[in-house]
Amino acid sequence: MRALILSDIHANLQALEAVIEDAQARGGFDVIWCLGDTVGYGPDPGPCLTLLRRYALLAVAGNHDFASVGKMGVEDFNYAAKAAVQYTTTKLTSEESDFLAGLPLVALAEPFTLVHGTLRDPLLEYLLDQETAQATLEMLTTRYCLVGHSHLAFLYWADQSPPEFFDFIVDEDYSLDGAPWIINPGSVGQPRDRDPRPNYALYDSQKETIKRHRVVYDIQATQEKMRAAKLPQYLIERIAHGI
Ligand code: ZN
Repeated sequence: MRALILSDIHANLQALEAVIEDAQARGGFDVIWCLGDTVGYGPDPGPCLTLLRRYALLAVAGNHDFASVGKMGVEDFNYAAKAAVQYTTTKLTSEESDFLAGLPLVALAEPFTLVHGTLRDPLLEYLLDQETAQATLEMLTTRYCLVGHSHLAFLYWADQSPPEFFDFIVDEDYSLDGAPWIINPGSVGQPRDRDPRPNYALYDSQKETIKRHRVVYDIQATQEKMRAAKLPQYLIERIAHGI
């Protein structure tokens, strides 16, 4: 079984299409595991949901997904994110809103747990340091955990003391060895590591390996749609810089 692992698509259809095409060229996948924030920031929330749902899909909710359907407030959102939530809300059909509202906070796909932020606070907490990583490991009931939310790819490997964060190097095969791992594949639609290329990961259950890839896509096409949608200038610029 091969799983395509996606996070933080953020309504960037061009980026999502490029990722799926690349994954198909690398041997394809049987299921998509989506770590939340499929919508928000970008111009195409509905089309991104439609494309994802063409495949076998296991998805969890992100803060933008729930904010866009009124399931959480936007007090913690900055001006640009709030504007994007308002735009997204007007673009979703009621069926799409129901789909997002029904997403679970945590999903299990043995040997993985899927969550957007952390197991302690699935929607809002960023897993970026020892404390947040350890708190999630303590609550983990499967061997491995997949997270998103920070838009930063990493591997956290707990088979040593102290456990450490590692770079999730692109195009490298990582063998999952039974020790606890927390893995962030990076963002599809709005990377924040100063590299605008979309990220994704592929898990192969036969080989017990996980691999991260990056692709190029038509950033300007997404930016033009964002301009037409009158989304904030800051959001339009940041996807070209990966910030
Ligand atoms: Zn996000």
